[in-house]
Amino acid sequence: MLILSEKDREAFRERFKDATVDAMSFTRKYAWCDLGECHGTCCSGGVWTEPEELKIMQANDAYYREKLPTVGVKVFPDVPLLDTSESMDRFTGGTNKRPFDYSDKPNYPKDWDHTTCTFRRDDGACGLQLLAVAEGKPAWHYKPFYCYLFPIDIVENEGKLVIEITDSADDAFSAATMCGRTRENGKPGYEIFAREIAALSEILNRDIMAEIKAGIAANDRLLSAV
Ligand code: SF4
Repeated sequence: MLILSEKDREAFRERFKDATVDAMSFTRKYAWCDLGECHGTCCSGGVWTEPEELKIMQANDAYYREKLPTVGVKVFPDVPLLDTSESMDRFTGGTNKRPFDYSDKPNYPKDWDHTTCTFRRDDGACGLQLLAVAEGKPAWHYKPFYCYLFPIDIVENEGKLVIEITDSADDAFSAATMCGRTRENGKPGYEIFAREIAALSEILNRDIMAEIKAGIAANDRLLSAV
């Protein structure tokens, strides 16, 4: 879990308090991420951050600069983070990206740019996660919210926030990632992503798994009444 203060957590809770859960999106079937297969494809464009996260990451710049080489992040640009607070509402920035050649990665989409998040190691592993583990901290200690949640997302739909797993049948980005792609022989998303659901529940102070199960049960009742 990113190092958020209690005040930051309250801001997250307030921001997402009315977000509804698309329970049925969690019944689609998925498989666990396999870094050897995907090489961190989801990190190719960097990640958006919530305002509180951007501030923390900006304040940590010197620390990341000193420590990331110790976990194998060799290239760290002058501007690892982008601040777009002038032009965006909810997302005030994110991680920057740098050129990276995926030509030898057969699963990388042919029409995507060859770039990668500044925090990604060349083998696809997240430098922020590696740093946390090396320091004996929880794996997601430094990792941005939308990175550790992926492929769970909080999207805006007709002005309302929805917690969902985006359907890879409708979304090229999800379809290109190993964990965001639906699998005929996979397991339901609420099982595969139980850890991510628990992290989201903890940060929002809600039982998201219970909300998912209640939504699925309500849908079943609806179907059996037809
Ligand atoms: S912060 Fe880590 S997980 Fe997130 S996009 Fe960058 S390398 Fe990937």
